[in-house]
Amino acid sequence: MSKILNNQGKIKIDDKVNEDINLLKNFNDTLKAKREYVVKMPVKGESVVACLSGGQDSVANIGILLKEFGLNVYPFFINRSQSNYKYEKEAVDYFNAFYKKRFPKLYHDYLEIIVNTPGVEYKDLLRKTKRMVDDIPLRHNISYPARGPIVFLTGMEYGYSLQAKNIEVKTIFASNMSSDFSYHCSQTWVRLMNILFCQILNDWSWQFISLPIETEFNNHYDKDVFIKWAYQNGVPLHKARTCVKSFNAECGDCPTCWDRRRGYKEASVKDPTKYKFPMSKKYPTYYDHEKEEEYEKRNRN
Ligand SMILES: [Zn+2]
Repeated sequence: MSKILNNQGKIKIDDKVNEDINLLKNFNDTLKAKREYVVKMPVKGESVVACLSGGQDSVANIGILLKEFGLNVYPFFINRSQSNYKYEKEAVDYFNAFYKKRFPKLYHDYLEIIVNTPGVEYKDLLRKTKRMVDDIPLRHNISYPARGPIVFLTGMEYGYSLQAKNIEVKTIFASNMSSDFSYHCSQTWVRLMNILFCQILNDWSWQFISLPIETEFNNHYDKDVFIKWAYQNGVPLHKARTCVKSFNAECGDCPTCWDRRRGYKEASVKDPTKYKFPMSKKYPTYYDHEKEEEYEKRNRN
């Protein structure tokens, strides 16, 4: 059985450039001063909100919340005009039906929320900024800086709004992994967001948790744990959408596809996915295969 709590993988939190251990400690101390604990796993039957992006991490995460923790899960899916929207939506619909059938009492239909992030008015400029190589340290770890915060602030607000239906939600789940390198995917960021939720809601019982990297649960692991869990529990995770490209199939050679393939290897689970390209020798960039992408787009329209 793959361990969901008390599990340390190969990547150590102390070695990660997108983490700030001292700041994290300060955030933990703030929460402890306010409520005597940092975070707690919600108890069986509690209602929670979880992000469902259509990707493997969020899909497996929801399965774990249902099966291992018996939580009432209210997923949300952000339509942010992503280039692979159609394929993410297909995956989201597939797993919505899958979990509804398997957990008819605990799983609730996802809510699709339209939030344009990054804003379409400056998305091209932001792309160019992202590609700049200059003296700003670790610019590639900044990515689209507001996307994570905006997505999860929206998730929190959705959870808060459920009170109108007499559903009490106090915990929001993300599914960041130990290998995620953006600043807005780190444990430090998760804690900062948690404090933000509490402050703007004036309620210090709110929680924001990403199981794979939650230090309070002594966790710091990667996709392989979720892949193994899904395999052992009959969740067809290969139907999730990983590829950030607009290809109709998983390209197999963009950064997210690469991480997915690595995850299967590390989990020693046979990857049933049919990829468009073989894996390159070195880690790909988001800008590889742009010509093929353009070509396919033109032939489709
Ligand atoms: Zn890909």
